[in-house]
Amino acid sequence: MLVDDDVLIDCGSGVGDLTLDEMANIRHVFLTHSHLDHVAFLPLLVDSIFERIEDPIVIHGLPATIQALREHIFNWAIWPDFAKLPVVNKPVMSYQEHMAGDICEVDGRKFEAIPMNHIVPTVGYRVESAQGKSFAFTGDTSTNDSFWQAVNCYSSLDLLLLEVAFSNEYEALSNTARHYCSNTMVEDLAKLKLNPEIYLTHHKPEESQQIIGEIKKLLPQREIKQLKNNQRFSL
Ligand SMILES: [Zn+2]
Ligand SMILES: [Zn+2]
Repeated sequence: MLVDDDVLIDCGSGVGDLTLDEMANIRHVFLTHSHLDHVAFLPLLVDSIFERIEDPIVIHGLPATIQALREHIFNWAIWPDFAKLPVVNKPVMSYQEHMAGDICEVDGRKFEAIPMNHIVPTVGYRVESAQGKSFAFTGDTSTNDSFWQAVNCYSSLDLLLLEVAFSNEYEALSNTARHYCSNTMVEDLAKLKLNPEIYLTHHKPEESQQIIGEIKKLLPQREIKQLKNNQRFSL
């Protein structure tokens, strides 16, 4: 997800839709967790813009997320260690660890890391603009209180991007993998005291109709849409 033109939240395959110029504008990447669908394009991104940038791209994440990148991706075996290339004192990327609960400010925009309940250490993000507009992105999660309490601390939320990985047919699997299915997401959504626009994400394309149908039945009064590729929001 691209915020303005210079910050990414996660770095999955969608980053491949950006032009080289758009990739070169990215200065910060906030990672929710280390799973491949959230970091897959990071090695190719830093390699693509290697010669174009003056200062390193800052990769923000939990210590466990950064450690996983160092050990399992940028380990010279899978990909070179771009935190040391082209030269150690002027690398193409640098790591910035944060803890759940931390708020990182980037040119007037606040990125708050919120602990989630997934199979590896994971955060979601609440992002607030200098004008006070805000959105939240759950990342991957299953049932939790932490996210809902964190967003309820504020008086408003304009937009919520919410994961639902599975339809109810796969409820057992969703619990094992620590994702939401329609039922568990709807149960948790009742904890939200604010009224943002809501878009669902992270399900497989062939599951989307099933999930939207289930949620319409469970929450007939609430308009919940499906996030589409290349969708833009103005807050
Ligand atoms: Zn995951
Ligand atoms: Zn995922």
